[in-house]
Amino acid sequence: MAEIFAAPARYVQGPGVAATLGNEMTLLGLGGPVLVLAGASAVRQLGAIWEQSLETAGFAPAIHPFGGECSRREIAAVADVARRLSARTIVGAGGGKAIDTARAVAAELDLDIVSCPTIASTDAPTSAISVVYSDSGVVEEVRLHPQNPALVLVDTDVILAAPDRYLVAGMGDALSTWFEARACARSGATHSRGGTTTRAALALAELCWTTLRADGALALAAHRAGQLDGAGTLDAEARGAFARIVEANTLLSGLGFESAGLAAAHGIHNGLTVAPGCHAALHGEKVAFGTLAQLCLEDAPAGEIDEVLAFCRSVGLPVTLRQIGLGDIDGAMLRRIAERAVQVGEVTHNEPFPVTAGMVEEAIRQADAAGRGG
Ligand SMILES: [Zn+2]
Repeated sequence: MAEIFAAPARYVQGPGVAATLGNEMTLLGLGGPVLVLAGASAVRQLGAIWEQSLETAGFAPAIHPFGGECSRREIAAVADVARRLSARTIVGAGGGKAIDTARAVAAELDLDIVSCPTIASTDAPTSAISVVYSDSGVVEEVRLHPQNPALVLVDTDVILAAPDRYLVAGMGDALSTWFEARACARSGATHSRGGTTTRAALALAELCWTTLRADGALALAAHRAGQLDGAGTLDAEARGAFARIVEANTLLSGLGFESAGLAAAHGIHNGLTVAPGCHAALHGEKVAFGTLAQLCLEDAPAGEIDEVLAFCRSVGLPVTLRQIGLGDIDGAMLRRIAERAVQVGEVTHNEPFPVTAGMVEEAIRQADAAGRGG
């Protein structure tokens, strides 16, 4: 098995960088016509800026509103639009589902893909993966595409304007990265790009966790202060912490999970999706609880579990079943979650020891008890 590392060709992050879209595409040699697939709020916020930037750089842009779900129907509809336009590049902008749809269309039509996240709630923007849902919102398939985005453009002013719950959820998704990478390195698991981990991916994953501990609470305070008083009022320390967390949530976590691998934290997250009670919890919120459960499953040192608990509490990430909407869970539902978490092919099996449903059940109970302070 080869060691494989994959990444976007170029990552650009900073205040106001949405206006550089056209220039960045020229620099990379990407071609037009350009189809921009964007959620409604992204269009309101950035539509005019993108149009001007792309037109100034000589591209003919067309903005198409995202339908709201990354489903086979939406992918087919957007592919039709791209074909009619003879698009050569597709820009996916907004949350994860809009970007996933753009990525799936780009892979189907062999177009270049640019990803412009407007929230920092997951580590998906740098990846080559689309999670495809049914029209009613149930996961149907995970598509692994051959190419990462040519460009990931992250405007920190735009991220700052989004609700801080997204930034915190992104920290939850980023929290799992190091612990899952470490598990995969120990077991020699194959990651989604078809290889085992490099030392580079492990180092990025560990830096992700170091950054969360150093800057997480500061970045959240900066986000709140910036929303109240404007980004211009933040001092250099606050701006720096905020930027480092946006990078941790998006780039470090993205490269870490994709090129080192996922393990029980995401497997348990996937298990939790069978419980209707936690459908209102965001991906990263459930992953944070899944991380705590993974550490219990691994029988990690108490000091490490305490560090993760302290971090979660410092930014308001959930650490109990009640906090993810499962306060009144019964034994049967817990069993269903655990069974889903260990189904054949699930990333839970990337742990360096065999994992059974009974072990996951026990780990979830232990994590909840630790979170409640018991
Ligand atoms: Zn994730």
